[in-house]
Amino acid sequence: MVREKDMIIEAFTREEGRVSFFAPGIRHVSSRRAGHLETLMETNLVLVSSKRGNSLSEARVIKTFPMLRTDYDRLEVVYDIVKTLRHYTGEGQGDTKLYDVVINCLTCANESKETPRFLREIVAVQLLRFLGALPDLYSCTHCRKRLKANDFSFKSHERGFWCSDCGEEKDEIMTAVVKIIRIFLAGNEKIFKLQISDGVLQRLRQISLELLRAQGGVAK
Ligand SMILES: [Zn+2]
Repeated sequence: MVREKDMIIEAFTREEGRVSFFAPGIRHVSSRRAGHLETLMETNLVLVSSKRGNSLSEARVIKTFPMLRTDYDRLEVVYDIVKTLRHYTGEGQGDTKLYDVVINCLTCANESKETPRFLREIVAVQLLRFLGALPDLYSCTHCRKRLKANDFSFKSHERGFWCSDCGEEKDEIMTAVVKIIRIFLAGNEKIFKLQISDGVLQRLRQISLELLRAQGGVAK
């Protein structure tokens, strides 16, 4: 039974992905745990599972990302990331690399003077990798031959890259798009300093959305 002052909270965790839990008495003004459960914070949680679900036993803040709560532009970027994660990850599906990339993106959005425009795409690429929905980045999905620079394109229905020998028109910008996806996959800190042209970013955004939408999503 959930008491009136209990709250159901949802968290995205490193070990178990999306997790929801009861936080007994969290609405109580004097609750010492309340401050540790704000949105957009990284928190250490100790949960206890029982027949009625998980409930919170301890919470301790690791990172607060204060700028995300005061700057609307930053908040918007990060909120988009949270929404995407919530839509495409199921409860109990953890992925440490995806989690770490999300935290790095939040840290970047919080600390950088100007938030890179491609944080959501960084997360989308890791999410596609996690979902097993990322096309082969090295060979033609159709004939399996190695992709040559400036000699392939993205084939939407097949959700993959096809070489020109397989009858697809060359789409030279795809070479740059695939290069960026490979760099995003590596996921080190350098990705935040990349310079990406509008044209490349636009195509990357379009492809990653198409591939994600094909997954359907799990959250209601
Ligand atoms: Zn081919």
